[in-house]
Amino acid sequence: MAGIYLHIPFCKHKCTYCDFTSFAGRSEYAEAYMACLIKEIEMWGEKLKEKTFDTVYFGGGTPSFIDPNYIYGAMNQVTKCFHLAKDPEVTIEMNPGTVSEKKIETYLRAGIDRFSIGLQTAIDEQLQEIGRIHNVRDYLYCTSLLKGRNFSADVMLGLKGQTKEDIRKTIELVAASGAKHVSMYALTPEDGTPIYTDYLNGELPDGDEVREMYDFGVTLLKKYGYLRYEVSNFAKPGFESRHNLNYWKRGEYIGMGVSASSFLSGHRFTNTFDLDEYMKCILSGFFPVLTDEEVKGEEAKFEFVMLALRTTRGISSKEYKDAFGSDWKEDFAEAYRKTKQYFIEEGDMTRIKDEYLYVQNQILADYIR
Ligand code: SF4
Repeated sequence: MAGIYLHIPFCKHKCTYCDFTSFAGRSEYAEAYMACLIKEIEMWGEKLKEKTFDTVYFGGGTPSFIDPNYIYGAMNQVTKCFHLAKDPEVTIEMNPGTVSEKKIETYLRAGIDRFSIGLQTAIDEQLQEIGRIHNVRDYLYCTSLLKGRNFSADVMLGLKGQTKEDIRKTIELVAASGAKHVSMYALTPEDGTPIYTDYLNGELPDGDEVREMYDFGVTLLKKYGYLRYEVSNFAKPGFESRHNLNYWKRGEYIGMGVSASSFLSGHRFTNTFDLDEYMKCILSGFFPVLTDEEVKGEEAKFEFVMLALRTTRGISSKEYKDAFGSDWKEDFAEAYRKTKQYFIEEGDMTRIKDEYLYVQNQILADYIR
């Protein structure tokens, strides 16, 4: 299994919590940028001729903000330059405030079969507060265009003034709209973003409150048939994101576009975060790689354990042994002994008990070498 990630860095407006590589007010660069992305796809396609990829993911930024024909062109180029598996999963991230019938038609023609919608909350005032350009009506319009299709909705926890009642309304809206998948994650106020000031002023819910919202959300999602398969991801049976499952299995992926990261042949590398530099490099025929690190030895083992234990499937001793030739419980004997009470063991598999999954980062701190 291997994935392809394509970064589309343009947004209509910058959200107050956003720490991603996304540019508002620079959409006039879209045409030149997409031409460079097409070139990068060709450059990597030549290098990775022998590999089969079974997922493609258009992320951002807001891929649905730009002309849909650019997305069509990029997907066409992926199909031409890479060997895709027979039934690839092809996802696009969409902001409900940027969607139209014509765009959806073009995406479907391009072979996109999964849609990830940034709803965040069903409370319009909260959407406005965090600088989102959409409202609940836009979400309803967007999902009406996707009736019966495979789409996911993002739900954010920890917003200013957010209550459990708000979470209930949001999850009920998501369920009623027919989403097959939900990503529910806690807001992380990053230094340098406008929302960080609210955080410093103590205006955001604290860790315990967010934890309560999360537990409340997990129960409600379960009631509507969304089963947790990773700490922040929930799906109706059979609708788990194949693209993300590959990340947690420490599978390989190639990321293209400004700031995109890749993991290939044991190397983790990241493209430049600078839009102009990205385009200059590509136009000169160079890969725009900013950092490249070989992940090996203890670090690779830790990554394997940490990623697998984020999922409700857990870690397979056999898969670990196949990858590293040793037993993970022996490699991490001291940490394992200290954290054993948080695990459930079933044959070859070990997973974190449901009630501790949310704090898996703290549990796994002992595994860092
Ligand atoms: S839409 Fe997404 S990428 Fe764009 S500014 Fe908002 S959070 Fe950032």
